Amino acid sequence: MTAYPHLFQPITIGDLTLRNRTVMGSMHTGLEDFFWDIPKLAAYFRERAAGGVGLIITGGYSPNKRGWLKPFASEMSTRLQSERHKQVTGAVHEEGGAIAMQILHAGRYGYTPFSVSASARKSPITPFKPSALSTKGADRTASDFARTAGLAKRAGYDGVEIMGSEGYLINQFLAERTNDRTDKWGGTSANRMRFPVEVVRRTREEVGEGFPIIYRLSLLDLVEGGQTWDEVVTLAHLLEEAGATVLNTGIGWHEARVPTIITQVPRGAWVWATQRLKGEVSIPVCASNRINTPELAEQILADGTADLISMARPLLADPEFVNKARDERADEINTCIACNQACLDQVFKNEHASCLVNPRACRETEIVLLALPRVGTALDRPRNVAVVGAGPAGLSAAVSYAERKFDVTLFEKGSSLGGQFRLAMEVPGKEDFKDTLRYYTRRLEVLGVDVRLNVAATSSDLADFDEVVVATGVEPRMPAIPGIDHPKAVSYADVLNGTVVPGRKVAVVGAGGIGVDVSVWLTHDPAETVDEWLAHWGVGDPSLHPGGLMEQKARTPIREVWLLQRKTSPIGIGLAKTSGWAHRAVLKQSGVHQVGGASYDRIDDAGLHLTVDGVTSVLDVDQVVICAGQESVRGLYDELLAAGRKVHLIGGADIAAELDAKRAIEQGTRLAATA
Ligand code: NAP
Ligand code: SF4
Repeated sequence: MTAYPHLFQPITIGDLTLRNRTVMGSMHTGLEDFFWDIPKLAAYFRERAAGGVGLIITGGYSPNKRGWLKPFASEMSTRLQSERHKQVTGAVHEEGGAIAMQILHAGRYGYTPFSVSASARKSPITPFKPSALSTKGADRTASDFARTAGLAKRAGYDGVEIMGSEGYLINQFLAERTNDRTDKWGGTSANRMRFPVEVVRRTREEVGEGFPIIYRLSLLDLVEGGQTWDEVVTLAHLLEEAGATVLNTGIGWHEARVPTIITQVPRGAWVWATQRLKGEVSIPVCASNRINTPELAEQILADGTADLISMARPLLADPEFVNKARDERADEINTCIACNQACLDQVFKNEHASCLVNPRACRETEIVLLALPRVGTALDRPRNVAVVGAGPAGLSAAVSYAERKFDVTLFEKGSSLGGQFRLAMEVPGKEDFKDTLRYYTRRLEVLGVDVRLNVAATSSDLADFDEVVVATGVEPRMPAIPGIDHPKAVSYADVLNGTVVPGRKVAVVGAGGIGVDVSVWLTHDPAETVDEWLAHWGVGDPSLHPGGLMEQKARTPIREVWLLQRKTSPIGIGLAKTSGWAHRAVLKQSGVHQVGGASYDRIDDAGLHLTVDGVTSVLDVDQVVICAGQESVRGLYDELLAAGRKVHLIGGADIAAELDAKRAIEQGTRLAATA
């Protein structure tokens, strides 16, 4: 018996029987682009297949050069390329898994000067204007998809996924927004649908009956000039007739200004769209986006909303997600927190993807946590290590050392685990961070780490350890503003941990990541429902609003907030690429007053006195919340070093500037891997 009976029910798609209903959705990691990374890609997928997932879908491979995502990006158009992929498919099959290859033509999202699209319309997120494919060119491109599918089959893939959503080429043919053609590929909505239907029809012809063709269908374009719901349903029927085996859910074009997968998107926020599609077609339907727990996956299947569940980032975060769920160890799952920081943000910076909570992701051959032999070491006993500080850096070090079979003792001066992470999880839309603490807490328990809370370790407590890792973290910086000792001046930590309950009017000093988060916390209505969230972002019924986009419903902020910085650059400009724009939009939606170029004169009973452009004024606020960065806490480290101890310094205690959990967790893991 399993707690997830629907999730672990096999399903047959075409000639392929999957061992369960989980699909590792397609995600570009950067390892797809060059053949010399194929061994790393094979190792990455091997771990996921060994972890029990039903079906893996690779990152996207272009059917030709004009479809590249960027210069020399992933492509599958030759027999040689197909031959090389046997390493990937072989690795997955050896672990009892199945793998499909995604075929993705970037269209106008191609970051190359020779990109093509349905029409010559530049996208708002790329610098290059595409050329319009000729009538014959569109025809050849549809055939290229089919040829690539044939090559994927030769490479040993168990199926293909055709990327028809997220605003890539196929979507560009489908929507009036990007298709103003007058030939057989444009004009009427039937003509706009011709391209995807031809792609699927020719692919079916090429691969034969029974070979699974998954089609990722854009259910909600979330852009002006997107498809109507009637068009989406008509296309679904045509695709089914043309030979598609499964319809996967796609939500939102990349240029859409509605967040679809980041942490602030409520879990399961898009399942209703999949449910509507399921009622229309007879082939299996796969749900996707912001599904990151086995409970939610099970619920969606049990409700009859979908037949399969796609999870891409959750499988990056924990390759053993599926086996842990199967073995009643769901509380040990390292949950994806939808931060994008180490996966999509890195890919956008032309780096390989990894994962904030699992730095081994895509580096399986590079970061190896080899267990030490328990006897026969130089000391003929397990080496013992003390980790001081249980923030993200200390937690990852403690767990990683313990995985290597060191004897680990974790000291924490506070009464709970988590450090700065505990504050982050209080921010609206970052509730998922709680799962990271649940994961570490359970993992420490399973690995038998000796956790000592409420102990501020001194050098004498640490005398008997072979190694000491100092991860004592940071403390908020309180800048030398006159009146900083006034009761109105409080640190962000005091606000987020509930020590201070702010009044109705608040100034926030410092507009880095934490200043923005605190401003959102201060203005956010905690009672907001999923439907309200959708309405605030202007997501409406696609039967009434083409593309599922309507006018945004205004937010009602629960406080009046001024967010201030000394710099004159736009506020929030340094935030991460894939989520920063959404945070900036929420500030706007919440009416946060944004003030740059400020100098802080003093804080007193009247509030915050400041000067902007030579003009002085006073903000009559109840609190001035200081979010001016952090300073390292490293007294213990200096003391141990002076005493000649073997000691390592990691996390915010090492470098406070630009500290983030991604660096902290990676540093802890890498340290343990090389110990
Ligand atoms: P931060 O990003 O360094 O921002 C602190 C801000 O305080 C600076 O932008 C600075 O702006 C101001 N400041 C610095 N020294 C000051 C002083 N002496 N007096 C007055 N103002 C001063 O630090 P943070 O916001 O605490 O964030 C810490 C880390 O957490 C960052 O690395 C960030 O990546 C991460 N984080 C990211 C996010 C996100 O991306 N959403 C959210 C939370 C945290 P001015 O000099 O212009 O005034
Ligand atoms: Fe999930 Fe963040 Fe890891 Fe990406 S980096 S897989 S969003 S936890």
